Amino acid sequence: MTDKKQAKKKYYRKRVDFLLLLAKIKLWPSRNGTLHGIKEMETKGEYAYITTHCEKKILVHNSKNGRAARWIRNKWVVGSCKDCKIPDWKLNKFSSTFFKQHYGSQLYSKQSVSLKLMK
Ligand SMILES: [Zn+2]
Repeated sequence: MTDKKQAKKKYYRKRVDFLLLLAKIKLWPSRNGTLHGIKEMETKGEYAYITTHCEKKILVHNSKNGRAARWIRNKWVVGSCKDCKIPDWKLNKFSSTFFKQHYGSQLYSKQSVSLKLMK
């Protein structure tokens, strides 16, 4: 046992809206399995422009079955970006986030999820 506080487990539906999910967790998995922190995110319909803290710009399609969505759901990540300096609490929060078929938040856009993230 460590005296480090365990992050509370958070459940989302597997079919959760991918862009809303990204806006919520503010993490992006790159193709080599590195997690980046999302600094800014701007949605344009079914697309979003993401800028990471290490100034990478990514155009993301809102697809629940896309690579990034699957990687996030399955947590196929091998590390986190040094330049993004993702705080430990955020990584802990991510590792205690789970995706279930029939249980968890749907993250409807009505909920207080800001898609235009503050700096
Ligand atoms: Zn990065």
